[in-house]
Amino acid sequence: MAERVYFDWNATTPLRPQARQALQDALALTGNPSSVHAEGRAARYLIEHAREAVAALVGGPPAGVIFTSSGTEANVLALSPAIETAGEKRPRDRLFMSAIEHPSVRAGGRFPRDAIEDIAVDADGRVKLAALADALRRASRPLVSIMLANNETGVVQPVAEAAAIVHAAGGLLHVDAVQAAGRIPCDLAAFGADLLTVSAHKIGGPKGVGALVRASDEIHFPDPLIRGGGQERGMRAGTENVAGIAAFGAAAAAAGRQLADEAADMLAVRNLLEEGLGAISPQAVIFGASAARLPNTTLFALDGVNAETAIIALDLEGVAVSSGAACSSGKVQPSHVLGAMGVSPSLLRGAVRVSLGWTTTQDDVACFLGAWRKVSGALSKSSKEQRGIAA
Ligand code: PLP
Repeated sequence: MAERVYFDWNATTPLRPQARQALQDALALTGNPSSVHAEGRAARYLIEHAREAVAALVGGPPAGVIFTSSGTEANVLALSPAIETAGEKRPRDRLFMSAIEHPSVRAGGRFPRDAIEDIAVDADGRVKLAALADALRRASRPLVSIMLANNETGVVQPVAEAAAIVHAAGGLLHVDAVQAAGRIPCDLAAFGADLLTVSAHKIGGPKGVGALVRASDEIHFPDPLIRGGGQERGMRAGTENVAGIAAFGAAAAAAGRQLADEAADMLAVRNLLEEGLGAISPQAVIFGASAARLPNTTLFALDGVNAETAIIALDLEGVAVSSGAACSSGKVQPSHVLGAMGVSPSLLRGAVRVSLGWTTTQDDVACFLGAWRKVSGALSKSSKEQRGIAA
């Protein structure tokens, strides 16, 4: 196969070497972490060591970490009306979420549909804090979920400001930091949030491991999604994915250590990419361009160019990118994120997401730009021909 360039890091990242090593080492162990003998204790040590690394990456206490099977599971666990804080057992009556959350939050966890309300975003894709404050007046014990950075646009949300508003209204704030962790500083305590979700495979760990991090171990879920043994302080039963968790910890430690350097490198490469894109397609719109964004994400569209067709054409050129639209079961749905930002339907259909990572080079960007020049030229021409405009 010809050499390919991978620009879909927001979908998933390659394993970091440290995570691969930790995975292999852990697979060589036999013990069950719940066993008291030496074999069991060796497995337990790996989990507790990883717990510390994951907590350190996101500024939470190690005792607050609940390991799960994914970011999705952590989000669903977090969104529970039964959540207890410091022995306070009255259920949460309403769930508020930004209109641009990931589908695993949009599904609402265990809240009934009619107890869920959306908070609007502005044209740059940033949650409207005034709308949040206004909405919270309609609830007595709200739970709020706002992501730290959006997976499609990369736009960073004002979660610290949101936390102050939510707490003033007697609420709790959950932050989905799946895309932000390891790419921008992420500090649960500094944000003043109560719960935070992180996923291993977006930071160089393996797929199928995540964590819900609580600001304090006084936050408790009496209604675990999986009941059984007392693992994860009774909040997530099942023998732990020891190797996956150990690799998650190794990825978190490496991501935290290298964050400043990697973020600066990613930003330099991303800026190059956006400059090149602007030179080839001056009419291209970069969504959220005037807002603070993750250093690795560019979501753009060119009027008249269909994203699905562009992605297939780029794939044939050896370039892996994704559409701004959610694709599940092979069916591309219009992006709810761009819809919430008020983007016109014709642009919305053309949104292409280019996301890069710590190994992306200037040569990779040159490959992308070469492919884009070819593909966009051909697609714009055929789109004009279809519309009967002389190309
Ligand atoms: N939250 C956000 C913002 C995401 O981008 C994703 C995955 O793309 C998830 C949650 C789900 O994480 P996982 O793939 O670990 O289930």
